[in-house]
Amino acid sequence: MRLLLLGGTSEARELAALLVEAGVDVTSSLAGRVARPRLPVGRVRIGGFGGVAGLRAALADYDAVVDATHPFALGMSANAAAACTDLPLLRLERPGWEPEPGWHHAADHEEAARTAARLGTRPFLTVGRQELARFAPALGPLPVLARVVDAPEQAPPPAWRLVTGRGPYTLDGERDLMAGHGSDVLVTKNSGGTYTRPKLEAARQLGVPVVVVRRPPGPPGVPAVHDVASAFAWVRGLG
Ligand code: NAP
Repeated sequence: MRLLLLGGTSEARELAALLVEAGVDVTSSLAGRVARPRLPVGRVRIGGFGGVAGLRAALADYDAVVDATHPFALGMSANAAAACTDLPLLRLERPGWEPEPGWHHAADHEEAARTAARLGTRPFLTVGRQELARFAPALGPLPVLARVVDAPEQAPPPAWRLVTGRGPYTLDGERDLMAGHGSDVLVTKNSGGTYTRPKLEAARQLGVPVVVVRRPPGPPGVPAVHDVASAFAWVRGLG
């Protein structure tokens, strides 16, 4: 049983560790987006496959696929669903955060940007480097604090300040960062998980409104589990 594990998440690293421990022949795949990725244990390949056709060709080396990419990594999940016509495919997707009273939900990043502009004047953006440009039209002139893992290729508007960081974050650190900047609105995707959750509690304590970009729906027709143990059981069940 040769498993391809599409990763880039803490859950994918946890699953890789369990599978390696259990002696499963697993290869983790990373997109290669961040300069110094956290590497899972076991075999790792890095870089895109070259669309559905490239992935389909690569699948000749595997017997099953677990898509444990981030809930907002839509392209990779869609490609996996399209390419795995003859192979078992499981989606491992961590649960989203339970909505809290007072959260402002947005269907996409553009709507989140407009909502943030209505709610505050010193936004704290935690939406990822790839999405920053979508906030520039609505928030360009404002003193935005934008946190990213690596700096974006395209320079942000001059009024913006970038901070680099990577979870897990602490409540104290998040509160200090937001208070230091004078953040009066927080923007996040509904990523779920614990690594980036402390900012939500920090915002609550500081009385800062939160704009949450809703999750896009996962690939239709792909069976999904929501925790690492269930994904591990699925792989073991393949024999
Ligand atoms: P995406 O938009 O869904 O994917 C764009 C392309 O990147 C894919 O078509 C594929 O290229 C390549 N790719 C993505 N994930 C890959 C993987 N695990 N292994 C090999 N190639 C991969 O992806 P994204 O949103 O840029 O996310 C990239 C990676 O960062 C993912 O592994 C994801 O789990 C992780 N991540 C994403 C977010 C987020 O908010 N989007 C947050 C944290 C971590 P080809 O078409 O050439 O195969």
